[in-house]
Amino acid sequence: MTEVHLRNLVKTYPGASARATDDVSLDIADGEFMVLLGPSGCGKTTLLRMLAGLELPDSGQIVVGGRDVTYLPPKDRNLSMVFQSYAVFPHRTVRANIGFGLTMRGVDADEVRRKVDWAAGLLQLGPYLDRYPTQLSGGQRQRVAVARAIVVDADVLLMDEPLSNLDALLRLSFRADLKKLVEDIGTTTLYVTHDQSEALSLGNRVAVMRDGVIVQCEDPLRVYDEPVSRFVGGFIGSPPMNFLRARIDTGGQDGGVLADLGGQVVPAPAALRPLGGTEVHLGVRAETIGISHERRPGALRATVRVFEPLGSAVLVTADVDGQEVKVQAANTFRASSADTVWLTLAPDDLRWYDAETELALETA
Ligand code: ATP
Repeated sequence: MTEVHLRNLVKTYPGASARATDDVSLDIADGEFMVLLGPSGCGKTTLLRMLAGLELPDSGQIVVGGRDVTYLPPKDRNLSMVFQSYAVFPHRTVRANIGFGLTMRGVDADEVRRKVDWAAGLLQLGPYLDRYPTQLSGGQRQRVAVARAIVVDADVLLMDEPLSNLDALLRLSFRADLKKLVEDIGTTTLYVTHDQSEALSLGNRVAVMRDGVIVQCEDPLRVYDEPVSRFVGGFIGSPPMNFLRARIDTGGQDGGVLADLGGQVVPAPAALRPLGGTEVHLGVRAETIGISHERRPGALRATVRVFEPLGSAVLVTADVDGQEVKVQAANTFRASSADTVWLTLAPDDLRWYDAETELALETA
């Protein structure tokens, strides 16, 4: 059982004005695949390096498998790491690279051979065991690095942007292989990325970081569907969540609460009634918006600015009362710029944010 507990980790680099991690706590369950996601400089790598023992926190505690490892050197933590750069030894064969950690630990040669064959099989490296890294593609080299990390039976697997040097196609196929592999071996994993699609695809949970703080940590679909802030909604999703400025209007005909987008209105949750007269931000995902050339009851009138076929879908950038909205529709939908279209927003798909704090408003 290897649970990981990061408790109140604070780290400030010498000479830095801000904390790289600012009182971060995170619990990773045994066998869980936890993804740390956030923009460049938000502190993800620092957090991973503190868990690895490559950086020491100023304060806080790191517990792995019930053991306080906060100040232990990396070699005493029984963790293994895969980096963005392939970090394989150029003058050793693939077999020697994969077996390196085991050999260093004094594991006998037969056992090393058996384990290397096992890992090479999982990573489809069997045919390449006698080659040198220069005779491999980038993707194969990264497979060697992953194989080397998994053969040692580490308690925790740490991966820092392992796919980011691969081209787009290879990244997709390796991502799926990696997911299957980690599910099969069941090792507790912390994975750092700034790529939101990787985070959604791989993580049992995704911890979104900003400015040294974890701002949301939940299962990927929940992070996608119910971002706790504009930042999260804007960072996750392609296209990002739409945000529309709206004023809460409590003077609806039947006493209902409305959100005025600048002329046109949509129904707003009754819980927002106390915010009457104030500005809020309405968040809505592009693929939840209905679009039609015919007027529909309750639909918003919009003007098409840009129509983009994406292959599997189409992306329409439209103007609603001077505000831009992106709509992702079925690839059978057609439109041209300047067309009038009608947008349907389903109440259940709308999220509401405070205009000042940009945090989600309670609507239940
Ligand atoms: P990236 O995705 O670009 O790697 P990150 O989210 O992993 O970013 P960190 O590398 O953890 O972010 O950096 C967090 C902050 O700490 C940044 O402001 C960075 O400039 C700073 N920082 C990182 N390493 C050092 C260092 N060795 N010395 C000083 N400052 C550092």
